[in-house]
Amino acid sequence: MTPLIITRVSVAFLLVAWSFLDYGFVRGSYGAVLPDFWNLVVILLLTLLLMIPSLVFLPLWILPELLRKWKAGIRRSRCCCPECGQALENIGDICLECGPLNDRNGPDDRSLFLSCLTIWLGCWLVGSIAGESIARLDEHQFIQSQEGQSDATLSRERWKPFWGSLHWDEQTATAQATLHEY
Ligand SMILES: [Zn+2]
Repeated sequence: MTPLIITRVSVAFLLVAWSFLDYGFVRGSYGAVLPDFWNLVVILLLTLLLMIPSLVFLPLWILPELLRKWKAGIRRSRCCCPECGQALENIGDICLECGPLNDRNGPDDRSLFLSCLTIWLGCWLVGSIAGESIARLDEHQFIQSQEGQSDATLSRERWKPFWGSLHWDEQTATAQATLHEY
């Protein structure tokens, strides 16, 4: 395991956990039980909004490229080869060690930005899908335990770590959700 892999695994784990917990909070406060497609879209978008602060961790994902670019920028400003640091006559020269400079730019800013955006959105989806799966299992289990039982408990908390509680309305025979404790 190289430090880069450990860093990337940690960043991905952090983002998935962030998304999962945000999803649980939004799902609990939204109040819907077994939400339909459009409610799911709203919950997903609210979760994405809550994930915006986690963007500060994304530079860790491309840390080696950022350090390399930073070092190359300093070398270029001193009229040196951005790769090996050897002094050049003019910027845009051919380095005796590395060859033409333009061939050695590495990943450009756009592809770095896209890889960060992809990993961020990917972690958002994985955390949200995990959150939705657990919330649905929880709600199915609650509804099944209520149906056909007159002495069942009418309210209980959602499974941890989700926020809120589930309630059973005997008159309409439907489940409802609230954020507060029962
Ligand atoms: Zn060079």
